[in-house]
Order: sequence, then structure tokens, then C-alpha cells
Amino acid sequence: MNVKSETCFSNHDGKPLSFFASEKEALDSAKYAKKRYGHSLLPYQCDKCNLWHLSPKSRHTQSEECSYCTDKNGALKQLYVSKNKAQKRADILYKEKAVLLDVYSCPHQNGFHLTKR
Ligand SMILES: [Zn+2]
Ligand SMILES: [Zn+2]
Repeated sequence: MNVKSETCFSNHDGKPLSFFASEKEALDSAKYAKKRYGHSLLPYQCDKCNLWHLSPKSRHTQSEECSYCTDKNGALKQLYVSKNKAQKRADILYKEKAVLLDVYSCPHQNGFHLTKR
């Protein structure tokens, strides 16, 4: 089953997103897409409609918190394992929020951070 949302659209191509009533349904569909098309998709719960959508796995950049660096609010900064991953995240944030971020390597350990330009 493939039901299209009337409220939520893809950032990527502007098409209506498929939605699912539960995480399980979304997961089942993700498994199907993986088998059938080889796409890796991850379910996420939407802030807008409270239902579940799928997004490409590549959008979910792996990151963890740095044990040393904090942002200006005093929260630990996200540490990205590779420059590529950090850059990918910066690109997404730029598209979604129009903020320009620069990637720099953490002075304390292996990894990369983003900072506002
Ligand atoms: Zn939605
Ligand atoms: Zn750091």
C-alpha cells in the first residue's frame, strides 16, 4: 500500500511523501523497498503530520557527541566521523534551513564539527 500525504512533500523533488500509520508499517515498507529496489530507507516520525515517512538512509548522517567541544549554548557539539559526513549534514541543513555551515576538524580528537559561517 502506498498512500501519499496531502501535507508533507519531499525536500528533494517536491512530490508528496508516502505516509504510514505506524513505525511497523513504515519499516515493512522500507524492507520491501530494500529487497525490490535496493534502496536503504529509514522510517521517521513527522513533526508536521505525526505520521511516519521514509527517508533515504544517506540523510541520516552518523554522528556522536564530542566529549570536549561545546556550542555557544553550552551543549556538546555533534562529532562527525568523517569530513564527508559532516559536509553532507551541512548540505542538508543548508537546504532545509538556509544556514551556511563550515566543516572543521576537532582540535581534541578524531572527527569533524560544523560551525556557523
Ligand atoms: Zn508528515
Ligand atoms: Zn570536538
